[in-house]
Amino acid sequence: MLPQLFASITSTSKISAPLISSYLKELCFYRKNPFQSYTGRIYEGILHPCLNSGKHYVSGTDGQPRSVRVPFHEHREMEISDYFSALGYILTHATTTASFTQLIHLLSCYAEWCRVSSSILDINTPTVVQMLLDDPSSSECPSFRTMAQYGHRNKLRFSFASSVSAGKGECREDVRQSRVSALQSVWRHPLLYPTPVQRAHAATGIGYEDSSIESSAELFGTPWGHCGESVSFPSMHHSITSGRPLSTLALSVKAMTCVIPGTDTIPVYTIPLLTNLTDVVEVLKVAGALRPMCLNCIYLRNTARGCIQDLAITFSASGDNPG
Ligand SMILES: [Zn+2]
Repeated sequence: MLPQLFASITSTSKISAPLISSYLKELCFYRKNPFQSYTGRIYEGILHPCLNSGKHYVSGTDGQPRSVRVPFHEHREMEISDYFSALGYILTHATTTASFTQLIHLLSCYAEWCRVSSSILDINTPTVVQMLLDDPSSSECPSFRTMAQYGHRNKLRFSFASSVSAGKGECREDVRQSRVSALQSVWRHPLLYPTPVQRAHAATGIGYEDSSIESSAELFGTPWGHCGESVSFPSMHHSITSGRPLSTLALSVKAMTCVIPGTDTIPVYTIPLLTNLTDVVEVLKVAGALRPMCLNCIYLRNTARGCIQDLAITFSASGDNPG
């Protein structure tokens, strides 16, 4: 399993662009990986040049981000146009078997690598990492307890993606736009403008001047293309529109990579050591890392009549009724 390899690097203090690049190269060209031809293209086309140039996208001749098109589950030609989406893509294709708990380990690892990489790329860390996956509790075994017993040999199909890095760094609007194009190429339901999040903020009169609200695109007036779901939803668009049971889990990168106040616990270092799902969820809850879907993503789900359980909400409620 690959996360351990990640963990071995995160424990060193000499993280540099060449070190990350050589590690990711090994991951992308792993000989036994059946998706090697795609992950190899992602490495050559995005990850390596980004780390080389210290930017979160690769400039084309017109100055626009240059995308790499690769199959992503049910999307035959997904446009991957930035470093963090590329990282999510290769982690999605790094393993073909994983239990649900292992997927949370991998998502946690993704959060840490977004943090580490963003310091190298001199850009703000994406605020949220997200996975869309086959519902691990599916209809025949709907209880949380059953989900915790999910074995290591199960094949859960999943897609990882992050929100677009907000604030400093150029071309983020172009990256969002390319995600919107990828979504619209397979989504037959029209998008709403302004977005549902923007409408909700306008309706409540919340503005940047309100100091209690973080003035990032993540929380304020989120545009289409910003959330990780802009990548993961099109990757499973057939499943969504056919009503196949899916789950989503989004985590705050900041909460995952900082010390939990009053403890010496940093979730991304603690979680890989935990094999019991209940313990993992407890850390996510105490850390305040669970992020429910935003109104935009709920709108996408509902207009497509998707059956997507939001695990941030499920987990937040779990433990309130022990036993
Ligand atoms: Zn969203």
